[in-house]
Amino acid sequence: MSLPLLELRGVGKSYGGGWLRQHTRAVHDVSFTLEAGRPEVFAIIGESGSGKSTLARMVLNATAPSEGQILFRGRDLATIRRSADRRAFMQAVQPVFQNPFEAFNPLKRVDRYLYATAYHFTEAKGRAAQEAKADEALHKVGLSLAEIRGRFPHELSGGQLQRVAIARALIPGPALLVADEPVSMIDASLRMTVVNLFRRLRDELGVSIIYITHDLATAYYISDRIIIMQRGEVVEAGDARRVLMAPQHPYSILLRDSVLSIDPPGDASEPNDPARPWTSAGASLAARSGDVP
Ligand code: ADP
Repeated sequence: MSLPLLELRGVGKSYGGGWLRQHTRAVHDVSFTLEAGRPEVFAIIGESGSGKSTLARMVLNATAPSEGQILFRGRDLATIRRSADRRAFMQAVQPVFQNPFEAFNPLKRVDRYLYATAYHFTEAKGRAAQEAKADEALHKVGLSLAEIRGRFPHELSGGQLQRVAIARALIPGPALLVADEPVSMIDASLRMTVVNLFRRLRDELGVSIIYITHDLATAYYISDRIIIMQRGEVVEAGDARRVLMAPQHPYSILLRDSVLSIDPPGDASEPNDPARPWTSAGASLAARSGDVP
């Protein structure tokens, strides 16, 4: 059997300590495995402060766990030190950030980011080759270079700009995308264009996606498996459909009910049906505060 793509073994992260002895346990004892050769959308769900972003930063090797291990293709991230190894890791595991308007410099044309990524991570050293790489990646996200060439971030919609960010992330040919709240800053009407894209990338490019969100509806809509986090710990994990239909933990039940109460489905056999209002892009925990599109 091949090595797993990603394996978390009892991963935890605490902040603080020192002479003030103020300790925040952001993540505690998280374990899960993404198999190689079986691309999936793996959702990490939880309310604000539950440790999702800390977990994402550890998977991206941007911060080290204080307990446990993270292995990518069998290699402990803690052993990745040489610049060639860091580069190979960055090539294989790419981030997608929450707010595309913050990810791009407002004074810089967006196509430049694609050329720079092609230059750094592929053999495309000349401009024509970089443009070809950019155009190829943009087509994977339903755009083209002709549409975005020379454009500044504010000239694109949030949904378009996030798709450009995803195109940039695809240029190195990653095996895993770590997307931290990638649609929360995007207009509800455009969210599904981005969310559906993740499923297409999984199916057509074989890329696995860790999809971090507090938005249950989109998570259930696109995910194969989910974990639900509360106060840094995984309170429930499993097949997305199973967890939705038969949540066991009181917190998962609460989350599920906050979505289902919008419009309970009669026949619960098709949780991935886009026609169902409770799986619509904007229905989320925020629905309780009236933020339903
Ligand atoms: P989420 O992404 O689910 O909102 P976070 O991972 O951002 O959760 O935060 C989890 C907990 O860790 C919170 O209590 C947060 O205040 C704390 N935390 C996150 N980053 C830091 C940091 N750099 N220093 C101290 N505490 C942090």
